[in-house]
Amino acid sequence: MHITVIGGGLVGVTTAWYLLDEGHSVTLVDRAEELASEASHANGAMLHASHAEPWNTPRAIGQLLRWIGREDSPLLLRPREIPHLAGWGLGFLRYSRPHHHARNTAVNARLAVYSLALMRALEQQVTIDYTQRHEGILKIFRSSEELETARADSALMADAGVRHEALTPEQIIDREPALAGIESSLSGGFFYPDDASGDARLFCQRLGELASRRGLDLRLGESVHRLQRRDGRVHAVETDRGRIESDAFVLATGAEAPRLARQVGIHLPIRPVKGYSATLSVAGLESAPRLPIIDDGRKVVITRLGDQLRIAGTAEFAGYDKTVRPKRVATVLHQGLANFPALAAEVDTATADRWACLRPMTMDGPPILGESGTPGLYLNTGAGHLGWTFAAGAGRVVADMISGRVPAIDTTGLTLDRYG
Ligand SMILES: Cc1cc2nc3c(=O)[nH]c(=O)nc-3n(C[C@H](O)[C@H](O)[C@H](O)COP(=O)(O)OP(=O)(O)OC[C@H]3O[C@@H](n4cnc5c(N)ncnc54)[C@H](O)[C@@H]3O)c2cc1C
Repeated sequence: MHITVIGGGLVGVTTAWYLLDEGHSVTLVDRAEELASEASHANGAMLHASHAEPWNTPRAIGQLLRWIGREDSPLLLRPREIPHLAGWGLGFLRYSRPHHHARNTAVNARLAVYSLALMRALEQQVTIDYTQRHEGILKIFRSSEELETARADSALMADAGVRHEALTPEQIIDREPALAGIESSLSGGFFYPDDASGDARLFCQRLGELASRRGLDLRLGESVHRLQRRDGRVHAVETDRGRIESDAFVLATGAEAPRLARQVGIHLPIRPVKGYSATLSVAGLESAPRLPIIDDGRKVVITRLGDQLRIAGTAEFAGYDKTVRPKRVATVLHQGLANFPALAAEVDTATADRWACLRPMTMDGPPILGESGTPGLYLNTGAGHLGWTFAAGAGRVVADMISGRVPAIDTTGLTLDRYG
């Protein structure tokens, strides 16, 4: 078959890769001049099955409502966005009920564990350097209440194969001495030995190069404007440079997916949730952490990428606005660096690379993979805060579905028909 993947972020590139594995002829089209120009560009760099819980916990919803309009909060709902969130927002609330939340955590964890195994297999298959480290991830907590919630989530995820180790504050410092300055404020944490980290943009671009050598037809700087149907089947797309006909199409346009899907009557329950990152040089600074760290209370992740440190976080409901707002990045930087007083005193934040982008977030948490209900069109979108973690697994599952193979994992809870 000839298959066109629309979107060259993490999930588009991995889908194209696994479609090539299945012997298909594959075109990948992206409106940007290079791969990974949007959400996959400078994310938190974590491959974290340990972070599989959807964001709509009752606690997060309380915080979101309490902090409406507050520029310095890690979760920000802009009042002008409230009308646009109506139906999706109600779903987001509904799925925060404990039984939904537990089920969706398990669904995400299953896909994440599969995906991390595929990443390791891929690294056996090809040489690909994306400053990866397979050394685990540390999660730290200040409040004992948050620690207990995380203990319950970790037990739930353990059933899906996410291994963890509970740590006292002292054991946290043994693992990551850069946190010594905040030891007295910690209540405890967890270490997830199978998690990993790496630069998502480098990964996309290098896998894209490898795929091109395997015959991928890569069309960059070309924007898809319209899905065209014949006899009810999507058989072509119209772009700003012409037309592409294919036997099947995969919509992997991240937060933009609902706009194209709507043209053929598909309403995807996905909204953009903005996040920020700052990337700092820590070359020669002994005070910089080596392990990737998730600070759940402050809603930031901190990841070492070679000589650089990436600090990422915040969730902002601000529509499709991708403006990098200095105050918001300053919040992320401040929250991240507060964990390392010694580093904060010596690192140069003025030269940090500042970035913002939109996570494609479903109202229940898991992504949407596979058939769209319209023949010829498949979906791979809605990965939210877990798109890097899910990329290989989601790509493989969608490639299997298109090729008529049964995916290696149970896909209950991952397909569009779960919404009824
Ligand atoms: C601040 C932040 C931190 C994050 N940290 C992590 C993390 O640590 N771990 C993790 O697992 N996940 C993380 N994520 C989430 C992850 O980055 C995203 O889920 C993932 O990048 C989504 O990938 P994607 O391929 O679906 O979308 P994108 O990367 O946005 O790719 C979509 C592509 O589609 C293209 N496109 C859109 N419309 C069209 C069109 N009409 N025609 C042609 N091309 C089009 C775009 O140019 C883009 O390249 C983070 C996200 C953010 C914002």
